Amino acid sequence: MALIEIPLVVDASRKILHVDMDAFYASVEEREHPEYKKKALVIAHDPRKHNNHGVVTTANYNARKYGVNSAMPSQKALELIPKEELLFTDPNFTLYRQVSDQIHDIFKDVTDKYQTVALDEAYLDITENKLHEPSALKVMQYIQTRIFKETNLTCSIGVSYNKFLAKMGSEHAKPFGRSLILPEFSVEFLADIPIEKFNGIGKNMQSKLHDLGIYTGRDLQAIDQDIMINDFGKWGFIMFQRCRGIDNSEVEANQIRKSVGKEQTYNKPLMTKEEVYKQLNLLSQQVFEILSNNNLQGKTVVIKARTTDFQTVSKRKTLNNYLSSQLEIYNTAQELFDELDIELELRLVGVTVTTLDEFGFEELPLKLFED
Ligand SMILES: [Mg+2]
Repeated sequence: MALIEIPLVVDASRKILHVDMDAFYASVEEREHPEYKKKALVIAHDPRKHNNHGVVTTANYNARKYGVNSAMPSQKALELIPKEELLFTDPNFTLYRQVSDQIHDIFKDVTDKYQTVALDEAYLDITENKLHEPSALKVMQYIQTRIFKETNLTCSIGVSYNKFLAKMGSEHAKPFGRSLILPEFSVEFLADIPIEKFNGIGKNMQSKLHDLGIYTGRDLQAIDQDIMINDFGKWGFIMFQRCRGIDNSEVEANQIRKSVGKEQTYNKPLMTKEEVYKQLNLLSQQVFEILSNNNLQGKTVVIKARTTDFQTVSKRKTLNNYLSSQLEIYNTAQELFDELDIELELRLVGVTVTTLDEFGFEELPLKLFED
C-alpha cells in the first residue's frame, strides 16, 4: 500500500548558525600545554594504566591523521599511533566547562535563542539578533573573532536556513572555517556527501541503507518517501526531508538559568575609573539581589565593557567559594576591571555571576533562636 505523500515545505526565512569548537578538549589542552601540539594527543585515560579500558573523548588533528577519533576505544589509539608520538591526557572537565561558559557568554551577546548541544557545540537562531546585523556572514565573523580573542581557540561555523544544514555546514568548514549554504544550493551540496556524515543517520540506519545500495546524499534523494517511512519509520521521514534540505525544527533556547547578569548602556560615556567603579558597584548590587531572590549562588564573576568605538572585552574569575555578598561580587568585578586592557571611555559595563547552583541545605545559616 502506498502512503499518502506528505507535502514538502521549505521554510527558508530563518538564519541559523551551528557553532562547533575545533577538537575542543584537545585544543584546550594544547593551549594550556603548548608542548602537546607536537604530539598525537588523545584525551582519554591511558589504557595501559586502566586495564586496557577507556574511550577516546577527543583527539587532536595529529592523532586524527592516524585514524583516531572520538568514541573509539583508547586501546585502539595505542595500536594506531607510534609510541614516540602518542600522548594520553585525562580529561579536565572543570576547565572545559569554564571555557564553554565563556563561549556561551559570547552567544548571549548575539542572541538569547541559542541551543546548547554539547560543551563545544550550539545552534543559534540569528534571524533577529542583538547585534542588529542583517548579514549572517558578519555575525559568523563576529563570533569566530571573539571566541578566538577571548579563549585563544578556534571554531567552525555553518549558516543556513535550518539546523540540519547549519550543522552539515560547520562540519564541512572544519577546521577554523565558515560555510554558507543557500536554499538554491542545498540539494546539490548534500548530493555528494556520504550518508555516514549525515546528521541523524546512526550506525544502524547507515548499514541498512548500505544494504540497499545507498551511499551518498544523491542516492538517498532518489528513494521514495513511502519506502523511507516503511523501512525506517519516523526517522525515515525525517531523513527523507533532510536530504532535500528541509528541517523545520526550532532552535530551542536553553531553559536552565546558568547565570545572572546586569548590564547598562550609558548615553554619557564613563570617563574615569571612579565612575566605572561606581557603576560596577550598582550592577553588583542588582545581580546579588536577583541571586538572593532566586535562591541561587555562584562562584564566577564576569565583567564586560564596551568602548565608545564598540570594542567589547570581557574577563572572568572563578573563586574557590561561593560569592556570599554584594561586596564580594563588587570586589571581584573591580579587580577584573583593573586587569582589563581597555581604553576609557566606556559606553557599556556589565556584571554577571555564573556557574550557579541552588543553595544547598547545609549552607543555609542556622537560625538558633527565634527573633
Ligand atoms: Mg567540536
